[in-house]
Amino acid sequence: MTTPLVEMDGDEMTRILWKMIKDELILPFVDLKVDYYDLGLVKRDETGDKITIEAAEACRKYGVGVKCATITPNAQRMTEYNLHQMWKSPNGTIRSIMDGTVFRAPITIPSIHPVVKNWEKPITIARHAYGDVYKNSELRVEGPGTARLVFDGEDGSHQEAVIQEFKGAGVVQGMHNTDKSIRSFAHSCFKYAIATKQDLWFSTKDTISKTYDAQFRKIFDEVYEEYKAKFEELGITYFYTLIDDAVARVIRSKGGFIWACKNYDGDVMSDMVSTAFGSLAMMTSVLVSPDGNYEYEAAHGTVTRHYYKYLQGEETSTNPMATIFAWSGALRQRGEKDGLKALVGFADALEAACFDTLNEGIVTKDLVNLMEGVTPKAVNSAQFIAAIRERLERRLA
Ligand code: NAP
Ligand code: MG
Repeated sequence: MTTPLVEMDGDEMTRILWKMIKDELILPFVDLKVDYYDLGLVKRDETGDKITIEAAEACRKYGVGVKCATITPNAQRMTEYNLHQMWKSPNGTIRSIMDGTVFRAPITIPSIHPVVKNWEKPITIARHAYGDVYKNSELRVEGPGTARLVFDGEDGSHQEAVIQEFKGAGVVQGMHNTDKSIRSFAHSCFKYAIATKQDLWFSTKDTISKTYDAQFRKIFDEVYEEYKAKFEELGITYFYTLIDDAVARVIRSKGGFIWACKNYDGDVMSDMVSTAFGSLAMMTSVLVSPDGNYEYEAAHGTVTRHYYKYLQGEETSTNPMATIFAWSGALRQRGEKDGLKALVGFADALEAACFDTLNEGIVTKDLVNLMEGVTPKAVNSAQFIAAIRERLERRLA
């Protein structure tokens, strides 16, 4: 390695898996260079959460990070960890500093069939994570009257539109987005499509929302011009369609593309897609910034229930797949950025060793009931990682 990878350690069961993965699957094979940040809750509390900001800035500096799942504190965690403050979600902090879009894709294997039988390849959801209904203002109106949208520009300009002349009680909602955020979203999507050589779909409801949703479509069209030549060179396409048409096409598709969604659509559709593919433990997640920085992680949390068992000395069968793929994704990206073929090759071999293991039916407990056509053998996390190591050594020999 030439440039360090930004390593962000985390909490609970995933912190335990993190160390096992590093010790068994990374350090014996890679001359690993990292810029290490402990984002475990204890350290975040000790540093007044400065460590999270430093980690995010390191991701911007070096361009590639890998993050373990972390606790987002709530009232119960305040007492459990005796916290000074209810620190914000590290993922939220990192996302706002990197200004990125989150892409989620399932890890698929032949013996776990998606609920939708024609899906042959993973579908990646890119959710715009700013604005719309998540940052709205709402009113309950109790009787007849006029609801208006009003904008007072700093330059003294004034715009107004009637929302509804109410004859009786009802509800009103105001929401917004910004050109800057939509543009960042578009850049992240086109960059990720190029990085993963997949078609990009984008959907809104611009036939109904002729100004708001139309602005999303317009910005995507404009930004696409910057990437068009590269798309043509790679033989991938950018495809815009209405959200309802997209839903119908996604269900009938073979998969293997990125579906960029507005905030609400992405919220709903990512749950639909991930459930249909099988297991949360097999869902990967990567944050891509508009300037091409990447942060890889698992989509799941710290698996608290398993951690409490682990603390009582019980062996757990927690699935490390998504966390291993966060490592392989980050190492591959680092290798590609730095032109290190061997590192890219290692990332491919590591993922292939994981697939060898699963395809032979060696799985963690969460996958047992999902497997078809193979008789699964449930193992604990340590045995599962050891089985991957064996196959990885064979592949690298
Ligand atoms: P979770 O950690 O994702 O776990 C929920 C349940 O899903 C688990 O109890 C387990 O089910 C199953 N599961 C998830 N990952 C698994 C894996 N790798 N292997 C096997 N089973 C797995 O969600 P949570 O319990 O709601 O949240 C726990 C903590 O994680 C919270 O403090 C939350 O703030 C944090 N969190 C962090 C992130 C992040 O850092 N990106 C994301 C989400 C949540 P069974 O118990 O049925 O086995
Ligand atoms: Mg949701």
